[in-house]
Amino acid sequence: MTDQTSRQGFSTRAIHAGQEPDPRTGAVVPAIYQTSTYKQDGVGGFREGYEYSRSANPTRTALEECIADLESGARGFAFASGLAGEDAIMRGLLGPGDHMVVPTDAYGGTYRLVAKVQQRWGVDHSLAKVSQPDAIRGEIRPGVTKMIWLETPTNPLLGIADIAAIAEIAHEAGALLVVDNTFASPYLQQPIALGADIVVHSTTKYVGGHSDVVGGAVVVAPQIAVPEYADAAERIAFHQNSMGGVAGPMDSWLTLRGLKTLAVRMERHCDNAERVVEFLRSRSDVTHVNYPGLDSHPGHDVAAKQMRRFGGMVSFQVEGGEQRALDIVGSTKLWILGESLGGVESLIEHPGRMTHASVAGTELEVPSDLIRLSVGIEDVDDLVADLEQAMG
Ligand SMILES: *Cc1c(COP(=O)(O)O)cnc(C)c1O
Repeated sequence: MTDQTSRQGFSTRAIHAGQEPDPRTGAVVPAIYQTSTYKQDGVGGFREGYEYSRSANPTRTALEECIADLESGARGFAFASGLAGEDAIMRGLLGPGDHMVVPTDAYGGTYRLVAKVQQRWGVDHSLAKVSQPDAIRGEIRPGVTKMIWLETPTNPLLGIADIAAIAEIAHEAGALLVVDNTFASPYLQQPIALGADIVVHSTTKYVGGHSDVVGGAVVVAPQIAVPEYADAAERIAFHQNSMGGVAGPMDSWLTLRGLKTLAVRMERHCDNAERVVEFLRSRSDVTHVNYPGLDSHPGHDVAAKQMRRFGGMVSFQVEGGEQRALDIVGSTKLWILGESLGGVESLIEHPGRMTHASVAGTELEVPSDLIRLSVGIEDVDDLVADLEQAMG
């Protein structure tokens, strides 16, 4: 994938977009505007539109402009969490009687929001595998389906969706395509350039990248393909201000600081993941490795077409069933046993008992001998040695 030639490169924009040196002091880094309110020059005389920090805050604006630029969108919005951003998309744009199609292996919190919150307010949903465009098409209810939700790669099985193909299916049906780009990050994949209308991130993960802040971002495309939703950005802005789940100034600042190094971090995450995959494939007690960079991965060709590289998330299955998988995740010393992903430190977890415990017994259930890795940016020899030690 190449950047558009008329624009500066990704890292240049990550470091500079929305982040001009302060005109008054020359400060190179955007300030943390830890303020709730702003002095007005006479009643209604707002300086640069700042009135109250739920509605807008300059530190948040810097982050919103930067992430919108990196995703090639028209407008960005920063939220207190990824789920607050998802809520703004779903409740800002859908209403009673509407229907959405969501992935069978959606992030658990996304599924909970759809099944337990949206459903109660009269928004129905169907599930389809993201790797099967025809299955998604089959779940569309003409005139009623207003949104197709994708994650790619998916969590924790690393399924791949063909964003461009599914954008066409969505738009033919008059539905919006929303892509959760958390696993790839804007460095590896840009859904808007592939036809998506809206991109959402848990910036808690790769965008922030240091496991020190929870946040979310929504980016709206310059052109919305569904006329009914031409004002999608205004509706999301309205919802953001009305519900108030905004990113605070300190959290915005931390996220923006992380974003500056996204490209170099992602390259190292990818290098390390490739080495870890090679190690896992060399072991006879590993029965299956999920990584879109492998030729044998069913989504490999699509991933190669739409991603710059294949990311830092890996999952695998082991001989010995659930107990062995639990023993391994409990025996690493360097890999930290924990949920979340996308930080500089490597994490290991057992999806069946941890991140995906709540979907046991549903269509979203994951294999009990599955282990998920978020490969960090430590020295990869140390990461491989620790896995070897833990696997015995
Ligand atoms: C973590 C995550 C979310 C939710 O984000 P929060 O910041 O935890 O609210 C959504 N989608 C994916 C793919 C995630 O990994």
